[in-house]
Amino acid sequence: MNLLKTGQENGIHTAYDFIFSEEFRNKNLCNDDYVKYLYKAFMGREYDDVGLNYWVSLLNLGTSREEVFNGFATSKEFAALCDDYKIAVGVAVEVPQYGTVPRDKCTVCGKQDGVTAFVTRLYNVCLDRDPDEEGLNYWRYLLWTHARTGADISSYFIFSEEFENKDLSDEEFIEYMYRAFFDREYDEDGKNYWMWEIYDGMNRSHVFAGFVNSKEFEALCQLYGITLGTYTPVNDILTPDYVAKMSYAARERLILGEYYGQGTLTKEQADSLMTTITVPVWDFLNTNSMTKVQKSATLTCNKYVADYFKMAFEELFQHPAQPVIHPGSFYAYSYRANVNNPSVLSNHSYGTAIDINPGENPNKKAMVTKDAWNAMVQGTVSQMQKKEYTIYEGSPYYEVLYGKYHLMWLGYNRTPDAMHFEF
Ligand SMILES: [Zn+2]
Ligand SMILES: [Zn+2]
Repeated sequence: MNLLKTGQENGIHTAYDFIFSEEFRNKNLCNDDYVKYLYKAFMGREYDDVGLNYWVSLLNLGTSREEVFNGFATSKEFAALCDDYKIAVGVAVEVPQYGTVPRDKCTVCGKQDGVTAFVTRLYNVCLDRDPDEEGLNYWRYLLWTHARTGADISSYFIFSEEFENKDLSDEEFIEYMYRAFFDREYDEDGKNYWMWEIYDGMNRSHVFAGFVNSKEFEALCQLYGITLGTYTPVNDILTPDYVAKMSYAARERLILGEYYGQGTLTKEQADSLMTTITVPVWDFLNTNSMTKVQKSATLTCNKYVADYFKMAFEELFQHPAQPVIHPGSFYAYSYRANVNNPSVLSNHSYGTAIDINPGENPNKKAMVTKDAWNAMVQGTVSQMQKKEYTIYEGSPYYEVLYGKYHLMWLGYNRTPDAMHFEF
């Protein structure tokens, strides 16, 4: 059997019109039967095992049917066949962004198509049940139209109400991850690694990301003819209660994001972790006046704690004492070495340390007690302003930022620095 007749103008074009016609596509040939068909169509013969395995394994690795079609169409064997029929071979077809895939059971052998099998598998493995027709059709449609990727669809299953209602322990959650996304049971080392990460404060969104954004899941998706995509993990929303319970490691993991565990942060990496927030502050009208006015201050800080800092400074602004912050002497991010230990980076390099009024506050290097603060001289406007800019134990800054928002205060440090707070 072959597709060619003497007198046709172009062999490849004729083959393409036939093999990618609606009628032919409706045969929903599986990879095996598709390649077997190409042998007959292009070479006028039965397949050989070596060739069949070669082309099927390419398809299983994500090569599109159009590319495999071109492999056959531009072969010497097909050129010779065209020559016999006295027709031109033609040129390879353009490969589309997404290749053609079967959309139902193979009409030759009955094998389920990849997308349907992928979705069915997610139901079976994640939800421990068969798909309902409506659900199956919905997810299949999104995959076929490439409106969603394999990673997207998987996230909908894992973070669905139905899955969450299983109320899995961390250990069980990891076991499901292995089965669902690596198509195997866990290995002890791997499971221990993830258990340790969770113990260390990694949330399930990040665990899931570790599985779906992996080579192993990519291979699984290719096998099913699914576009992998990537999943962006979601951090937990920081609240004072949540932050109070975070371990040091969990804080470090959060603020370093994708650079966690990768050694010393470079300036470029640090820059990429920053964002800018604007917060309302009270300040003096000018250097000759004790009248307070609302100003706004911008802070370049770590993007993972930016919302939290914003919330803290908005609350500080609401404090009845109207604590003053001089916008020109208020900053978080500054990529530099630690003043006391130059071999390590200052926490300002991570955008998680904040200095308040360092240029206005005469007592920045000493821990300021309430008694010391009370005893500060205050004759002139300048002296009174300095006193108000000064942070001391029990001051509104201390009460809100340290007491309520659990930012560390360096007033208690071995080398005290009363205007420095950090996440
Ligand atoms: Zn088949
Ligand atoms: Zn500082």
